[in-house]
Amino acid sequence: MSFAMHGVGVSGGIAIGYAHLISHAILEVPLYALSKPQIPSEVERFEAAIKATRTEMEGLRANIPADSPAEFGAFLNLHLLILEDSTLSKAPLDLIKNQRINAEWALKQQMDALLAQFEQIEDDYLRERKADVVQVVERVLKVLLGHPGSASQPASADLSRILVAHDLSPADMMLFKQQRFAAFITDVGGATSHTAIVARSLNIPSIVALHHARQLIRENELLIVDGQQGVVIVNPDKQILAEYRLKQSQWEIEKQKLKRLKSAVATTLDGTVVKLHANIELPQDIPQVKASGATGVGLFRSEFLFLNRDDLPDEEEQFAAYRRVAQDMRGLPVTIRTLDLGADKQLRFADRSGDNPALGLRAIRLCLSEPQMFHTQLRAILRASHYGKIQLLVPMLCSLSELRQTLHLIGHAKQELAQEGIPFDASIPIGGMIEIPAAALVVQSFVKSLDFLSIGTNDLIQYTLAIDRTDDTVAHLYDPLHPAVLQLIAMTIAVADKAGIPVSVCGEMAGDTVLTRLLLGLGLREFSMHPAHVLAVKQQILTSDLPHITAVAQKMLKTHEPEKLQQLLLRLNS
Ligand code: PEP
Ligand code: MG
Repeated sequence: MSFAMHGVGVSGGIAIGYAHLISHAILEVPLYALSKPQIPSEVERFEAAIKATRTEMEGLRANIPADSPAEFGAFLNLHLLILEDSTLSKAPLDLIKNQRINAEWALKQQMDALLAQFEQIEDDYLRERKADVVQVVERVLKVLLGHPGSASQPASADLSRILVAHDLSPADMMLFKQQRFAAFITDVGGATSHTAIVARSLNIPSIVALHHARQLIRENELLIVDGQQGVVIVNPDKQILAEYRLKQSQWEIEKQKLKRLKSAVATTLDGTVVKLHANIELPQDIPQVKASGATGVGLFRSEFLFLNRDDLPDEEEQFAAYRRVAQDMRGLPVTIRTLDLGADKQLRFADRSGDNPALGLRAIRLCLSEPQMFHTQLRAILRASHYGKIQLLVPMLCSLSELRQTLHLIGHAKQELAQEGIPFDASIPIGGMIEIPAAALVVQSFVKSLDFLSIGTNDLIQYTLAIDRTDDTVAHLYDPLHPAVLQLIAMTIAVADKAGIPVSVCGEMAGDTVLTRLLLGLGLREFSMHPAHVLAVKQQILTSDLPHITAVAQKMLKTHEPEKLQQLLLRLNS
């Protein structure tokens, strides 16, 4: 049966391929009772799953890629030990026999009992091994449920495959960067969630918030994914398939045409030059930045260096990563944002998500409460500043006292390096992210101590409109055109201009071509976005009549009517 599903498109393009369902098995464990004669075969099934998991893990250990972190082998050894422990490999057998329940449920029950015991352990290190137990159990469950391979590491990359997931963390999503797939779709998530941002950086069509896609779509079903429109067509008929094949080739032709703009300077019709920079998560993203023609890195989300691992990267490792980006960009500016951990980006071994993670210990708040971790990062960034044109950006500033504490810690790190005779750029520009409404309202007091500003519209919208950016149930209310959002952006740009310091937008708004002219009209002259959007935004800029769009944008600032705002936006873009 053919049917269509609608979600929120986060990355454009059209993909046609076969569904590959990936899951977090623990969420979907069935419970069923067994009759007495079924028990021996269930016991056998469990033992076979343990054996298959062991073989899979030993295979992984024997084929560790040369560029894997050194800890990877130790991590697999630990997982093998956990698997062999009788509490996981033997105790569920008693539950199967005594309670007459299926193997999956017995294993899950045993895991829950074990995790409860872990909670009582005083030793932090041992307590944190909980996550390892869960991962090992997940592997066994996947074998039992008939889809082996880790949730976050699909067995093989394949351009005809479309990944269908319920939800994935940004950390899970990072692992897909090493794989190639035709498209990505998930049941939940908002368009500006970090998961969506990483999905976008895979540069393939992606859709989130498809509600029940994983339940409705079956393995190997043919799918069309239209990332632009946020539509998935399941089992399309021949005619629809032909239509989308045509659309797909038109999309490709447009993409090829845009490539001609790569070396053009982004100037408006009256000759005003606009800077177009790129957002990255890892040093490996630089070739994509270069291919996009971006003239700098406007946002390096450094926290991604800290995900998917069981330890913190030390100063040398961070220094090497930051220096590599600085050197690869050959003198072009590189803005390294200090750690924005917390909320949906948690350390594997120290999850501090709390009850309300977006309002909790996140970004600079977390760094100020973990001064040693912050100090290590500051030293690494400062050291790397000797090898290129690095700027340091502080996320989620809210109050002047936070800014002062941060500047004090940067000063201390500089002093230490100077005493040790280690070179660094003594006048490294320090910028602040304006992404909390309070910060936008008092930006006047921030600009006195900062060299530049960067508006994080993803969070600015989330916090202004009280809409969780990761929650698909409120995704329709996430509105960049809300008058309050426009006022805060305009105010921030105006204050920065008056203070004579640069200001950019580095949230997803910067890469949305529908909003390019609006931002230009509000006075923005620096944009930072995912590299895949740079050329399309440049095309908008090259055809923009600045005096006209400034007048329309100013009108938009005075309008509160949503329909009128939409009409004015259309006028801007026509
Ligand atoms: C933002 O909030 O707009 C931003 C760029 O930061 P992040 O998306 O990483 O929170
Ligand atoms: Mg942010």
